[in-house]
Amino acid sequence: TKIFSDRINRIEVSATMAITAEALRLKSTGIDLADFGAGEPHFATPQHIKQAAIDAIEKNLTKYTAVAGIPEVRKAICARHAADFGTDYKIDECCFATGGKQALFNAIEVLVDHGDEVIVPVPYWVSYKDIIQFAGGTPVFVKTDEAQDFRLTAAAVEAAITERTRCIILNSPTNPAGSIIPAADMESIIRLAHRRGIVVLLDECYNYLNFEGEGKPTSGGSVTDCRDSIVICGTLSKTYAMTGWRAGFALGPKPIIAAISKLQSQSTSNASTPVQYAAIAALNGSQDCVEEMRKGYVELRDRILAGFKTIPGITCTVPQGAFYVYPNVSAYFDKKDASTASQIASRLLSEAHVVCVPGEAFGTEEHLRFSYATSADVIDKGLERMRTFFGGLV
Ligand code: PLP
Repeated sequence: TKIFSDRINRIEVSATMAITAEALRLKSTGIDLADFGAGEPHFATPQHIKQAAIDAIEKNLTKYTAVAGIPEVRKAICARHAADFGTDYKIDECCFATGGKQALFNAIEVLVDHGDEVIVPVPYWVSYKDIIQFAGGTPVFVKTDEAQDFRLTAAAVEAAITERTRCIILNSPTNPAGSIIPAADMESIIRLAHRRGIVVLLDECYNYLNFEGEGKPTSGGSVTDCRDSIVICGTLSKTYAMTGWRAGFALGPKPIIAAISKLQSQSTSNASTPVQYAAIAALNGSQDCVEEMRKGYVELRDRILAGFKTIPGITCTVPQGAFYVYPNVSAYFDKKDASTASQIASRLLSEAHVVCVPGEAFGTEEHLRFSYATSADVIDKGLERMRTFFGGLV
């Protein structure tokens, strides 16, 4: 007899979450891991943000709110985006959500139907594929060139567009490679999509963790004359070290945001009320904490990249944002029991106690993803273990 819906059978457990679970299991047996698995900041949430949630709880601001969030939090999101990127979203063009993932999930569910195609650049964040398939859509993968630092080009996107293309997902900087879509390509893709009636979903998860130039964040949302074709999904998770708070948002044209809020009204309702107050403090308060953390990530990136250079055979593009490196380990593929990235990742875990995520989860075969949002000590320890591990692969 049939138990499960076709819908649930179309998706898989998030690969990064599976690795995290196995790492937690090993940790609980007392093993000292060098953990580069989870994609989350090692920094604590800044004090003024925590205090705002504590104050909200003390004031009994703990009841239901409007599904899309209290007006103050939506105003804070719109104001932050306007100040940083010159956009002009209004409160009713903003929906606060339980994390950026919920905002993306809702956006895709309201835009994508059975048979619709969604363009997804490779390497991609694990969840896009499953969220699209859950909606009944088909992900259409667009390769990027490792020799060009995995930068997406407008030409590659154009070549993948068909009559059935409904959406294009653009994530910059990317998880897992930390690559950035060049500004000119970003603008061309948005203009092209606008002309063709295709929605561009901007996943701005890492846009404040930008290391290019002076580190100033950029947003495709700045192409404001195409705003009817743009939906922005953002999150406070990485920018303010708030992963566990579950605070994200969608910005977009009023009818799309209304549909997203309608879906949310029939699933989770509003995101946690004290979290909304914490988000206001994060967005309206001093942004110095964001810059401090960004600088911290640049140092850690340079440290881990320098370390990988000392391991023969491993090559690595230089990430321009986010907090991941994506080394190519294919030089080791002719070794016994290490002929795929997954096999290398699982041997790294069991033999060297180093946690990373194999590239297959992100749509490439030859890479491993390391999150360097961790201490310099863990980075040094992990690199030492990897030097020994790769040196001993036969
Ligand atoms: N988008 C990308 C590319 C991510 O890497 C993540 C988290 O890892 C998210 C979206 C969602 O983040 P959250 O749901 O914590 O806001």
